[in-house]
Amino acid sequence: MIRKGLSMQNLNQSLRIGSSASKLSNSSFTSQAAASSLLQVCEPSAYRKREVKVGQFLTRYGGEDEYADVDWDKLGFGLMPTDCMYVTTSTNDGSFSVGQVLPFGNIQLSPSAGVLNYGQGLFEGTKAIRRENGRTVLFRPAQNAIRMQMGAERLCMLSPSVDQFVDAVKQTALSNKRWIPPPGKGSLYIRPLLIGSGPILGLAPAPEYTFIVYASPVGNYFKEGRAPLNLFVDDEYHRATRGGAGGVKTISNYAPVLKAITRAKSRGFSDVLYLDSVNKKNLEEVSSCNIFIVKGNVLSTPAINGTILPGVTRKCIIEIAQHHGYKVEERQIPVEELLDADEIFCTGTAVGVASVGSITYKNKRVEYKTDSKSVCREMYSTLIGIQTGSVEDEMGWIIEID
Ligand SMILES: *Cc1c(COP(=O)(O)O)cnc(C)c1O
Repeated sequence: MIRKGLSMQNLNQSLRIGSSASKLSNSSFTSQAAASSLLQVCEPSAYRKREVKVGQFLTRYGGEDEYADVDWDKLGFGLMPTDCMYVTTSTNDGSFSVGQVLPFGNIQLSPSAGVLNYGQGLFEGTKAIRRENGRTVLFRPAQNAIRMQMGAERLCMLSPSVDQFVDAVKQTALSNKRWIPPPGKGSLYIRPLLIGSGPILGLAPAPEYTFIVYASPVGNYFKEGRAPLNLFVDDEYHRATRGGAGGVKTISNYAPVLKAITRAKSRGFSDVLYLDSVNKKNLEEVSSCNIFIVKGNVLSTPAINGTILPGVTRKCIIEIAQHHGYKVEERQIPVEELLDADEIFCTGTAVGVASVGSITYKNKRVEYKTDSKSVCREMYSTLIGIQTGSVEDEMGWIIEID
C-alpha cells in the first residue's frame, strides 16, 4: 500500500540510482562493496585507542573494556557519539536490504535527497538499559517500529518491517554495549531514523529510503534536586493542525516549534504546552512529550485524535495507572481544567515521567504538587522499576538481548 505513493517514474529513477556509487559512506569508504567489509570492522575491539572527531566531539575508544571512558555520574542529555550505527537502504522491490553495522560517522546524501528538500523523514526514540544482573534489555521496541510504519504510510515512505526494526535496535545496542551506562546511572538512548535519501526534484516521494539507527548514552532524568518543569501555554503557535502530520513522529513537526520553545525559554520557562489550533481551547501536548493531569483518583490525558503523538510512555502510564487502581480518562481537556488539577506530569522516552511544578496561561501562573508522594513519582518509580528489573514485568514489555 505504501508503495502506491511511489509513481512508476520514481521507481525507474530508483533503479538507476540503485546502481550508482553508495549513498552512504563513512569517510574513506565510498562504495557499497567497501562498506560491506566494515561489517566485521565495527567490533568494539577494533577501536582500541582510537580517537574520532565527529563535529565538535572527540570520542576516545578504549578498546575491549567493559565500559567506555565516560564519567557516568556527569551524564546529561547531549549527544555523545558511540562506536557503531546500523544502516540499511531500500531496494527496488520496496523492502530494505540486510543492514550493516558501521562505525558511527557522517553520511553522504545528494543535495536533492527527498529528506533535505521536502522533509521526508521520521525519527524514533527508545532505550537500552543495563540491569544489576548484567543483562541488557530493550523496552517495547516493537511499539516504535509500528509507529514508524504508521508515519511512513502518512509520508508516502517505505519502512522496514517490525522485525527488521527491532533487530536493528538490538544490533545498535549490542555493538555499543560499552556505552550503556552502569545500572542506575542512565540508559543508552537509541535513535532510529528513516529518511528519503533518493534524489528527487519535482514534489513527489523520494525513490529511495535509508534507515539508520544510532545511539547516545543519557543520564537519569530524576537526579537529586532536578527541578520540576515550568510550562508556558502558547496560544499563538501551534504544534499540529487537523489533517496535518502531528500524530506521527516526522522530523518536519519539530523545526516549527523551536520558535515557541525559544521564546518560552527566554522568559524562564522549561517548555511549551500547546493548545488545539481550531478552538485554542483544549490541551494537546508539550513539544516532545505527552501530558497528564491528576485530580483525586482520576488521571486524564488528551485523547489521540490526529494532532497528538501517541507516546509509548503515555500508553504505558495509562496501563500502569489502571493497574494501580486509578481511573484513566482519554478525552478533550479544556485549558481551564489546569486551574483545579492536583498534579500535572509529562511522559516521553527522553523525560520518562516528569513532574510539572507550574503552568502559566495568559499571565496567570498555577502551581502544582511535586513531592515524593505524588502520583507522578509513583508512575515514574513503577516504570523505571519495570525497566531496571526491581518491579516485576507483568505486561511483557521487556526484551532481554544478551
Ligand atoms: C516522541 C514524542 C512523545 C513521546 O513519545 P514516547 O513514545 O513516549 O517517547 C510525545 N510527544 C511528541 C510530540 C513526541 O515527539
